[in-house]
Amino acid sequence: MQIAKNTVASIEYTLKDDSGNVIDTSEGHGPLAYVHGVGALVPGLESELEGRSAGDQLQVRVDPEQGYGERLEGMTHEVVRDDFPADADPQVGMQFQAESEEGSLVFTVVQIDGNKILLDANHPLAGVHLNFDVRVVEVRPASPDEIEHRHVHGPGGQHH
Ligand code: ZN
Repeated sequence: MQIAKNTVASIEYTLKDDSGNVIDTSEGHGPLAYVHGVGALVPGLESELEGRSAGDQLQVRVDPEQGYGERLEGMTHEVVRDDFPADADPQVGMQFQAESEEGSLVFTVVQIDGNKILLDANHPLAGVHLNFDVRVVEVRPASPDEIEHRHVHGPGGQHH
């Protein structure tokens, strides 16, 4: 069976940046199962998986525009420590979720200078070339529930 819209594919993957640093991997977690064609993966990877079948191995290099987008200027915000909940202990590299008019945003703490804290709303992988090593483990039809929920039920997916 080939990966197509409304199939569930299970993949093993390792994601590295251009310097070879591992950003994410399925190793130690078991394969990732996803519903194909609903935007579960970054566009540049999902399109390369189309038509593949179990056992296929591929290396995919994804440009930022087909990944998590380019880094945008003007996405940083300076706040003060008092803006954080009393029990928060902001450190450089930490991520916080905040609600805004455009929905929820994830901010990364990029700089701390005394009481002043600089946040960046760019996705942490914005502007990064994504190098995927992927092996397709299994391909099966998605169930009607999975198509409706746009995620996988059972092994490698959601349990509910
Ligand atoms: Zn569900």
